[in-house]
Amino acid sequence: MTIESSIFEELRLRQRGAVITAADTEYDAARRVWNALIDRRPAAIARCHSAVDVIGAVNFARERGLAIAVRGGAHSVAGNGTCDGGLVIDFSAMKGIRVDPRRRRARAEPGLRWAEFDRETQAFGLATTGGTVGDTGIAGLTLGGGFGWLEGTLGMTVDNLVSADVVLATGELVHASGDENPDLFWAIRGGGGNFGVVTSFEYQLHPIGPTIVGGLVIHPFERAAEVLAFYSEFLRGAPDALTVAAVIMTAPDGNKACGIAGAYVGAIEEGEAALRPLKEFGPPILDMMGPIPYLGQQALLDQAMPPNVLNYWKADFVADLSAGLIETAIDAYSRVPSPMSSLLFFPIHGAASRVPVDATAFPHRRGIHMGIYSLWTDSAERQRNVAWVRSTWDAIQPFVPGGVYVNELGDDEGDDRVREAYGPNYARLSQIKAKYDPQNLFHLNANIKPARVAAATF
Ligand SMILES: Cc1cc2nc3c(=O)[nH]c(=O)nc-3n(C[C@H](O)[C@H](O)[C@H](O)COP(=O)(O)OP(=O)(O)OC[C@H]3O[C@@H](n4cnc5c(N)ncnc54)[C@H](O)[C@@H]3O)c2cc1C
Repeated sequence: MTIESSIFEELRLRQRGAVITAADTEYDAARRVWNALIDRRPAAIARCHSAVDVIGAVNFARERGLAIAVRGGAHSVAGNGTCDGGLVIDFSAMKGIRVDPRRRRARAEPGLRWAEFDRETQAFGLATTGGTVGDTGIAGLTLGGGFGWLEGTLGMTVDNLVSADVVLATGELVHASGDENPDLFWAIRGGGGNFGVVTSFEYQLHPIGPTIVGGLVIHPFERAAEVLAFYSEFLRGAPDALTVAAVIMTAPDGNKACGIAGAYVGAIEEGEAALRPLKEFGPPILDMMGPIPYLGQQALLDQAMPPNVLNYWKADFVADLSAGLIETAIDAYSRVPSPMSSLLFFPIHGAASRVPVDATAFPHRRGIHMGIYSLWTDSAERQRNVAWVRSTWDAIQPFVPGGVYVNELGDDEGDDRVREAYGPNYARLSQIKAKYDPQNLFHLNANIKPARVAAATF
């Protein structure tokens, strides 16, 4: 046993779940996160089985001055779900969920992925706005905002969060809702993992499916400019029930392409009518749009974003798809080094866009999220792929009014970008941080600095 691992004996005695260190054979598998570019070596990984395990882990780390990384579904591309030398609170063993069909509510533990959550809620014909790739964790996605196919009708994931149980930096377990600790409840709806460790989420569910109308159409890359101009116009007139995204990518046949994906929440005939213009435009070279199980829609993009691949991402909110932005994006993609990479345009619209900016900590209630996603497999190609993302990001800056999705911030972006992610809500978040985590114990995230003045007055 190494000296490093021996200090965790005390924690092992207290915990129901395993405490994994470099001395354990599972260590290498346990320290990995979704993004294979991240290669960090925590001192230990506490695989928590209950809120009591989380309390034990938080207290243990705080008392010994260990940094804490919190991991739900491990999808943070920045690698916030792991760290060098600290303690990882790992939720992969906490996947409990209780659906109450009568009240249309679900209580879900933070180790669940969206595919697991959706399967349970769909058994009762229910769903809530969740991520568009099935193995993304519910925890990190919810705490950062959460856009998805249902947002136009139901709002973002944070808009459907009813309450949460949170372990604070002191080790105290509190409930956060509109009635209890409302400031904390406001802050965790977009403020990420800055305020404590969430051990249970309560969501509002809605009748969805089992069949909806959705899917994807694909056009040749040569027509991308026309397709994106059409998409931009179509988006302006799209009803709340229809959420549509566009993507520049490489199709499975190896050719560059431009796709439009969408989902309609409502009657099948209405959905078919709403999506018809998307099927008729072009025509597309591949048409996979029509009635589809909601669970199928939720798996639509899974293969495009596989785990254990090297990833470098940057993102921004753009106001619209102007001709200049379209031209810049197409030009950038014509030089993409990896066929796995893509440029995504996902609007914040409908119900999601009508929530006031200060109603929750998530501030970006309009615009189009633009993701510049580089994915590749050969580690020797790192520089080329990172350079492509950075130069694409530089090129789009004239079209960016400011603002970035906190959940797609990289680990090399700096404080100004973190402030952009929280926008006008940063000052209030900073005050609430000072109340709940004045020592900034939870800092391995898009970090909100505790306000000094506020710290003295609480
Ligand atoms: C393939 C892919 C697809 C995506 N698709 C979407 C999408 O459709 N919509 C969307 O909105 N976002 C999407 N994202 C972004 C996604 O929201 C973030 O990656 C998010 O961090 C994922 O949550 P996680 O639990 O898997 O991540 P993790 O890496 O486990 O956690 C990320 C961070 O969240 C915090 N956190 C996690 N769990 C807890 C907890 N229980 N308590 C307190 N803090 C916690 C911590 O700070 C942690 O470092 C996608 C990301 C990927 C990689």
